[in-house]
Amino acid sequence: MYRSHTCGELRKAHINSEVTLSGWVQKVRDKGFMVWVDLRDRYGIAQLIFDEERTPKEVLETAQRLGREFVIKVDGTVIERESKNSNIPTGEIEVLVKNITVLNKSITPPFTIENETDGGEDLRMKYRYLDIRRNPVKNSLIFRHKVGIEVRNYLSNEGFVEIETPYLIKSTPEGARDFVVPSRMNEGEFYALPQSPQTFKQLLMVGGMDKYFQIVKCFRDEDLRADRQPEFTQIDCEMAFVEQEDILNVFEGLTRHLLKEIKEIEIGGFPRMTYDEAMKKYGNDKPDIRFGMEFGELNAVAQHKDFKVFNDAELVVGIAIPGAANYTRKEIDKLIDWVKRPQIGALGMVYVKCNEDGSYKSSVDKFYDQDDLKKWAEATGAKTGDLICVLSGPTHKTRTQLSALRMEMAERLGLRNPNEFAPLWVVDFPLLEWDEETSRYHAMHHPFTSPKPEDIKLLDTDPGSVRANAYDLVLNGNEIGGGSIRIFDKDLQALMFKHLGFTEDEAKAQFGFLMDAFQYGAPPHGGLAFGFDRLVAILGGQETIRDFIAFPKNNAGRDVMIDAPSKIDNEQLDELHIKLNI
Ligand code: ASP
Repeated sequence: MYRSHTCGELRKAHINSEVTLSGWVQKVRDKGFMVWVDLRDRYGIAQLIFDEERTPKEVLETAQRLGREFVIKVDGTVIERESKNSNIPTGEIEVLVKNITVLNKSITPPFTIENETDGGEDLRMKYRYLDIRRNPVKNSLIFRHKVGIEVRNYLSNEGFVEIETPYLIKSTPEGARDFVVPSRMNEGEFYALPQSPQTFKQLLMVGGMDKYFQIVKCFRDEDLRADRQPEFTQIDCEMAFVEQEDILNVFEGLTRHLLKEIKEIEIGGFPRMTYDEAMKKYGNDKPDIRFGMEFGELNAVAQHKDFKVFNDAELVVGIAIPGAANYTRKEIDKLIDWVKRPQIGALGMVYVKCNEDGSYKSSVDKFYDQDDLKKWAEATGAKTGDLICVLSGPTHKTRTQLSALRMEMAERLGLRNPNEFAPLWVVDFPLLEWDEETSRYHAMHHPFTSPKPEDIKLLDTDPGSVRANAYDLVLNGNEIGGGSIRIFDKDLQALMFKHLGFTEDEAKAQFGFLMDAFQYGAPPHGGLAFGFDRLVAILGGQETIRDFIAFPKNNAGRDVMIDAPSKIDNEQLDELHIKLNI
């Protein structure tokens, strides 16, 4: 028997019990005549004591030779500690050891296995199995498991069936590149790994499965942005015979269930906002609504004076930063430099200080009098003591820039409280999005998303204004899920492909199977997918997903522990009929 108890389990009530524990040596304190060892396992830490008087000599000597991360098994008696440690649950007891077995030695780990480690990110990733021994990572993985169980519980209770869909498939367009897998048995042909199970879940609806879900890996070959993973996990769902409202209700319910079970937080109805409204008020389709700082559009009150920059701009828009009127010239200059950084890309920033005495002081006093500035304050909701920051330029770009400033200031002012949860549905997304690079429209969500029936007529004349039956769930400024009501009519789907620039033959070659299926009584259907990694991280009060993934990839898409991707040998390439061109 390796253990009668775990290292985290022993309490005062166990005093005088004979116990067997196994685990890793966290720390050894050797006073010569007395040795203490902190023994760690998944459940906690138990203090072991060895002493000259009560411990057999060879056992004491073995204890003295222990190194960090040795794996040992001990037998002993639980005794009361002389100096108690109220910081750990086992702090009132220790185990007086009679027997010790070294189950395995360890070389010195490259970083300390402590909550606050001295190991940098790279080192921790290379030795991830050691990192997982640390509480923060271990707890995050256990937390992820709990969230997964609650997702399954909720959806099963709602009548959803978890069904696996294949990983070796044909491309599903979700806006990224596919990872591809060469087929040995089909010379010159490739599978694609799913960017999502989108087409399969729609086929399950044609198959009558009605309510489907899956916690599933998805693969997207994107240039990696911070905190994205090339393989990630979704809670993927689809329902038949539903309208948008039904789907929003089920997944609002799921989110509420998770907040209640995991965070013990009860939340009321989720507000809804159209995409247009979100862009206008927050410059962002995933606004963080835990704090205000809503945009105030200033065209009406700032244009037609002598300030050319504003007169020439498509949009003049500002936000009021609470309590920032007392920023020094230097601090404001720094803020201006911040918005001018290439990542943000503003050309400049106009500001107005709303002084305590009710007067205004702006960087454009030459062009605007106190009455003008008062109107700006009204439009941005600025109060005395606030600083109004104003940007101008092309609408979309300027909104995006001001949104970045809004988020930055909220961060600096501590307005993004990780323990507050503010969910929001953003609805009525545009169906299509113009892509400058390829000079054509792309599906904003994906090509299977249904346009709003009343907007279909605009597809030919004004495609950019067609709205979709598409929705996103936003939580604290993060998109945690998105989905849509689908097209279930073959002809409308064909029309959609045409608008996305597919020829009839291309559409048939790539998606013929789906359009064929639609001819056999496809029911109306829709669904959505939640980003599971992100959801878990947010529920865990953190913004980075990496610690909630057991073996994540780095920013270059590499697994530095197993060193993947890596070369394969010529024999394997030959079998796959692949000649490298490098
Ligand atoms: N397949 C979509 C995605 O991965 C979600 C959906 O439309 O259900 O974003």
